[in-house]
Amino acid sequence: MKNQLRQIPPIHELQRTVEFNRFISSQNLSFEIAADLVKESVAHIRTHIQQEIWDGPLPESDLFIHAVITLATYLKKEKLSLSLLRVINASGTILHTNLGRARLGQETIEHMCKVTSSYNNLEYEVQNGKRGSRHAHAEKFIRELTGAEAAMVVNNNAAAVFLILTSLAKNKEVIVSRGELVEIGGSFRISSIMEESGAKLVEVGTTNKTHLQDYQRCIDEETAMIMKVHQSNFVMKGFTSSVDTEVLAELTNEYDQVIFYEDLGSGSLFDFSNQGIGNEPVVRKVIEQGADLVSFSGDKLLGGPQAGIIAGRKEIVDSLKKHQLARVLRVDKMTLAALEMTLLHYLKKEEHKIPAIYDITRSKDDILQQSLSLMAQLKQKNSSFQLEIVEGKSRVGGGTMPEVELDTYLISIFHNRLTNHELHEQLRLSEPSIITRIQQERLLIDLRTVSIGEHEEILEVLDTIHEELVR
Ligand SMILES: *Cc1c(COP(=O)(O)O)cnc(C)c1O
Repeated sequence: MKNQLRQIPPIHELQRTVEFNRFISSQNLSFEIAADLVKESVAHIRTHIQQEIWDGPLPESDLFIHAVITLATYLKKEKLSLSLLRVINASGTILHTNLGRARLGQETIEHMCKVTSSYNNLEYEVQNGKRGSRHAHAEKFIRELTGAEAAMVVNNNAAAVFLILTSLAKNKEVIVSRGELVEIGGSFRISSIMEESGAKLVEVGTTNKTHLQDYQRCIDEETAMIMKVHQSNFVMKGFTSSVDTEVLAELTNEYDQVIFYEDLGSGSLFDFSNQGIGNEPVVRKVIEQGADLVSFSGDKLLGGPQAGIIAGRKEIVDSLKKHQLARVLRVDKMTLAALEMTLLHYLKKEEHKIPAIYDITRSKDDILQQSLSLMAQLKQKNSSFQLEIVEGKSRVGGGTMPEVELDTYLISIFHNRLTNHELHEQLRLSEPSIITRIQQERLLIDLRTVSIGEHEEILEVLDTIHEELVR
């Protein structure tokens, strides 16, 4: 063993080999980083030799350098690969919470790159050369789109809810219907966030029914707010009733100190119900119906970046902007740039440029055409996969419109040497990762959320799997 250790070539000798130089160029590394990785690999091998568990080529062998480089390549992948990966979402869930919710449109990405790759007027008024406010950027568009007097943007809707409760209802009472005490995504509960904010939750009504009188009875001097929460990820059926926005707005108008706030969850700016999809409230309507304040997410049905949007009466929003927490929860230029461009698409009635809207409103025939085209491309490749078109459903996801099922066509894909689960896993572990779903013993590809530009990558991945199998 001692003998073997002595025979390990010194690092400076390894650095002169062809293999080392090839390692540098193929992995696109600097000399120093490559040398460090080789040093670490040799140290690792040395320990294994000492512990008599090294089963690779011996140091005197010509193959030794190959073993070192293989290990160094592995270490490089372990230590220097990025964690956030692109994923092709063929799962059929559009706002997939685990896959980053809404993807951004081309012009949105371009605007973000333009703004962030140089200095910008984030807090500067170019017109008069004075310090400006970052709140100004998306506000104009939000006001225009929602009809609200004022608006601001924070980190996400959970942050919006927290800021609103802390700033406007700390140590005071907030009345919420028992039917609306929701939990979203496992980590956001209205009751918990309320407790955290210092506001006192006053539950009214029952799980299935809440009436106007229930609210009326609980209003007193301690009441700061009536809060209505969109049920988002569940639906109540049967013997149910809740109090409408208009009615609650009218009730709160009778009390000067009481604010009526509605947490809309998704907060749609686009009327999906016009297209026969769900019955999600449109933000503008809720404001018209008299809500003093609303908040909603930027990356759910809106189709923008992660953000929480607060809109409503000017004096209330202005007081939120001045709160210490507003600084804590403020968003970066990247978010504002992405949000601003997404909102501009709505203003210009170019909603098709927002991928989430485009994907949700795609017709099933459009998806059929795309599926047939991918199948034709695959057949040309002489692949050993068997394909079939089947009818099915896509989902909106992101905890919104839980009842809505969007008609779609799916590609059912099968290989006689793989189980569905094996193929599902191979696609997931490929580069890029392709997320499919297994339903009724079929492996299904839903192209609703896949761009034509991604076909080539899917074909390449399938080709690689095919080659491995027939080899
Ligand atoms: C999704 C949701 C939230 C949380 O929004 P994020 O943007 O994910 O922080 C809060 N309230 C409701 C009703 C929601 O649906």
